Amino acid sequence: MIPGRSFDGKRVALFGLGGSGTATARALAEGGAEVVAWDDNPDSVAKAAGEGIATGDLRTEDWSGFASFVLSPGVPLTHPKPHWTVELARGAGVEIIGDVELFCRERALQAPDAPFIAITGTNGKSTTTALTAHILKAAGRDAQMGGNIGRAVMTLDPPKSDRYYVVECSSYQIDLAPSIDPTAGILLNLTPDHLDRHGTMQHYAAIKERLVAGSDTAIIGIDDSYCLQIADRLERAGRHVIRISKRLPLTDGYFADGTDLMEAEHGRYSRIGFLEGIGSLRGQHNAQNALAAVAACLKVGLELGEIQSGLESFPGLAHRMEQVGKKDHVLFVNDSKATNADAAAPALSSFPRIYWIVGGLPKEGGIESLRGYFPRIAKAYLIGEAAPAFSATLGETVPYEISGTLDAAVEHAANDAALDAAGEAVVLLSPACASFDQYKNFEVRGEAFRQAVHAIEGVKPIGGKSQ
Ligand code: ADP
Repeated sequence: MIPGRSFDGKRVALFGLGGSGTATARALAEGGAEVVAWDDNPDSVAKAAGEGIATGDLRTEDWSGFASFVLSPGVPLTHPKPHWTVELARGAGVEIIGDVELFCRERALQAPDAPFIAITGTNGKSTTTALTAHILKAAGRDAQMGGNIGRAVMTLDPPKSDRYYVVECSSYQIDLAPSIDPTAGILLNLTPDHLDRHGTMQHYAAIKERLVAGSDTAIIGIDDSYCLQIADRLERAGRHVIRISKRLPLTDGYFADGTDLMEAEHGRYSRIGFLEGIGSLRGQHNAQNALAAVAACLKVGLELGEIQSGLESFPGLAHRMEQVGKKDHVLFVNDSKATNADAAAPALSSFPRIYWIVGGLPKEGGIESLRGYFPRIAKAYLIGEAAPAFSATLGETVPYEISGTLDAAVEHAANDAALDAAGEAVVLLSPACASFDQYKNFEVRGEAFRQAVHAIEGVKPIGGKSQ
């Protein structure tokens, strides 16, 4: 745990007693703060109080005595409307921050030279974060991974100069981290997502920009126009920017040429690594993730040889184009993490003959943007609330059935794929939707898929449990 020493002797209000909120309350108390923690859910308050966290109804507290207000990133700061605690904090002129901000302040206080890699983007954050931490660990560094993936950031080990932090940041966390200042900040890509929580694309992009704007070195994927503009803007402002592209040869920066990872310096190219034969990093999207991880690892002092061996031993993450089983010519792939159309595109582009399980709680735009991949779909199996809307999009172009449940979809897709005489067929769960209409989260949905696949007679399981 990182004790929140910068709040020693101060009163701090905290709202949101989920996993990260509870951990943050403990870290603050450990550092000497007087914490007053609250949640709208009485069960969470009771549970936290039972675990020794000081709770108090923030409706009736005197806000003028609070030095800061720590808000859980799951709670609305701006959209659709500010949470009631946000109004109270603003009314009393109390700063509103999150756990990533606390981490940045503690790093500044305890070990400002501790290498800190922060990662954001619409898609690929977790893969890039896990890959970067893996490369560092494989190279023998003390790498601490947390934030929006795995451990809450204040539960990591305390900062010291030879400890490397790799922190995934959602836009909510960046919005609550005004002084975020990583050694290397990565912005992978920007496409519309979570606009219900950010209002407009401009607002969403502006929040993400803050992470790279505060970085010593900004590593930016310039394959979309929002990120390209951000890279140009930061460079004009005199910041150190490293551009990466998964498809374009750049004059300066890092780019992918097929599975080769290239460095460009004033238009001169050299190969710095490769992804050929690395099963966990298939696809152009993973070239973007790998280039970002490589650029960040080089920035914090790793050698190319160490980086390449880290890439080669990366096991991949569960629920992201994860192969879970095989039966004869049929491969079963779990891409449950694809919770929007953009995230589903990489999987659809990676396999030529697909029995596609799709649906859930639909996002704006549905699957319209995936139309270019429809010729690869042998048949679609629609599940969840999205089924009527998606059936309208598929129309006459793609054969489909409304399966309703995941279990029915797996069974029917497996039967149909088994009869496919065209060679390798892939039963792919890549839902392009949130899971909340039928499952607690995408992990539970992915596990349900894995179980349904493993229950099919004759399927050979691949890989183990989720990580
Ligand atoms: P995040 O943490 O940003 O949600 P993940 O690494 O968990 O991203 O990947 C989520 C989904 O997005 C996966 O289904 C994957 O196929 C897709 N994806 C991964 N990396 C990228 C990328 N760089 N660009 C576009 N899509 C990606």
